[in-house]
Amino acid sequence: MLVFLAAAILHAGIAEASPAAPLVVLDPGHGGSNAGTRGAGLHEKQLTLVLANLVAQKLRAGGVTVELTRTDDRTLTLRQRIAHANRRAADVFVSIHANASPTRTQRGYETFVLTARGVDVDGRALRSETTTPRPGTDADIALVLDDVERGASQWEAADLAARMQRALRDRRGKDGDRGVRQDAHHVLLGATMPAVLVEVGFLDHPIEGKELADPAVQQLLANAIAEAITEQLAE
Ligand SMILES: [Zn+2]
Repeated sequence: MLVFLAAAILHAGIAEASPAAPLVVLDPGHGGSNAGTRGAGLHEKQLTLVLANLVAQKLRAGGVTVELTRTDDRTLTLRQRIAHANRRAADVFVSIHANASPTRTQRGYETFVLTARGVDVDGRALRSETTTPRPGTDADIALVLDDVERGASQWEAADLAARMQRALRDRRGKDGDRGVRQDAHHVLLGATMPAVLVEVGFLDHPIEGKELADPAVQQLLANAIAEAITEQLAE
């Protein structure tokens, strides 16, 4: 019975996903009265908008449809950001942020997902570790059933987050890799598609902040984010 249900859900999903170009919703963090963190003469809300526009350019050049939750300096609630993506039935949602630390000494990049379990995850590793034991069921079918039961988009989000870290590692070096993290990032709550939040670096770090303000570095970061999304869409 469960297998038939799973097959029906999968079938519906495939029928829905097949036709048009994929839609990505990018969310430049903060905006308007909510400036976010600050460093190198830059507000987080400015940096995130620059990056989102660069990522959008890159994706559109590859035939992907992209919408931004904001294209100017306006205040948005967290709920409005996710509502945009849900309403438009986006395939992927990526919220872009920059970090800050109390001592201004931390640096590096990290990607957040909402998951059912409170552990740092690598999507694939977690998937194989947490497969529900199902005696007499083929391993592949067991994976499918797990996806259906827990929400496939959570697993896809973990994969996307792992890709994001890999792509950033390629450009920014492995020392800055703070990993994929699970946290109560309310911006992701309620998303019905794979959704991640990427912190591209620490804007208040004396060195990294200056790097984040550099247009060449901004392009590298945007390329990394676009690459991870493109890989995810190709799955
Ligand atoms: Zn932020």
